[in-house]
Amino acid sequence: MQESGHDANPQMKAAFITGHGGNEVVSIAMRPKPVRQPGQVLIRLQAATLNQVDLYMRNSGAGITHQLPQIMGLDGAGTVEEVDEHERAFVPGQSVVLHPAVGCGRCEFCQRGEVVLCTGIQYLGEHRDGTLAQWVSVPAQNVFPMPAGLSFAEAAALGVNHLTAWRMLFTKAQLKPWETVLIFGIGGGVSLAALQLAKLAGAQVLGTSRDDAKLERARLLGADHLINSSTQDVVKEVMAFTGGRGVDVVIENVGAAVWSSAMKSLVRGGRLVTCGATSGDQPSADLRRIFIRQLQIFGSTLGNFDEFRDLLSLTERTGLRPVIDSEFPLDQTHAALSRLESGQQFGKVAIRVGEA
Ligand code: ZN
Repeated sequence: MQESGHDANPQMKAAFITGHGGNEVVSIAMRPKPVRQPGQVLIRLQAATLNQVDLYMRNSGAGITHQLPQIMGLDGAGTVEEVDEHERAFVPGQSVVLHPAVGCGRCEFCQRGEVVLCTGIQYLGEHRDGTLAQWVSVPAQNVFPMPAGLSFAEAAALGVNHLTAWRMLFTKAQLKPWETVLIFGIGGGVSLAALQLAKLAGAQVLGTSRDDAKLERARLLGADHLINSSTQDVVKEVMAFTGGRGVDVVIENVGAAVWSSAMKSLVRGGRLVTCGATSGDQPSADLRRIFIRQLQIFGSTLGNFDEFRDLLSLTERTGLRPVIDSEFPLDQTHAALSRLESGQQFGKVAIRVGEA
């Protein structure tokens, strides 16, 4: 344990923001190793993956209460290093994956099991130190056994993108095996996760992208019909494929740029679930279409502990593996953030923390 040794103030390597701006505010240097509190599990991280919110925190972090410097990274996987003496669920050395939402445990939403609605929610890497570090200490309820057969990077990726897609598809939209789902921006982390999960559920999947190479890779992952949204009319393609009916479910996180197409692609009574608005968050609402066609619109973020447990069970049983675009050592976090920012990636940009 050379990193911690017997120093009075053990340090660890981490990637953390010291301000807001570009990569110049991201330092890769030493930070104090976290001291495990009662009820927490100290985890030696092996891998994490980047999410859009990491860029948001670097760029501005506006509206998210946080203190600088703050360690980046929401998702993560690693091994248990230290637990409470009476801890029964975990043993040191065990491989685990993290749920990134630390709830207050006392508000009405936490008591209902809706940690994602907690009024005092703290996300790793947003409101508190995250996972781009050698260690992290989190409440034991945020720690789950890692599914067998996955790399640490693949397991880490489940904690944000797949969990988000799970809640959108199965909890919010209640997707059924005989239904058809349209996913915008196939290539992004949540969209690819939604493609994988919808196919596992037996549904038919249509996907859009402006990049033919991404569409081709989505086809290899099982997408049934792919639409190049820069050269084709999405609504026309959807209607042609569905015999003029429209899709049952739309999954989207693009926002204003696709909202109108998304609404027009839905069958009467169809459901739209949104978890992002990267192209703008004030689209025209098209209220007449919503009430006459009785469309349902759901907002969704991340997912709860029970949803994560179900996702991990399915992963272990089916061999589901998140798509990893690229892997970088912790020292190259700048290059990893640039890769995510480029929009060129297909799947997750991972950070190998264990090599730090
Ligand atoms: Zn709460």
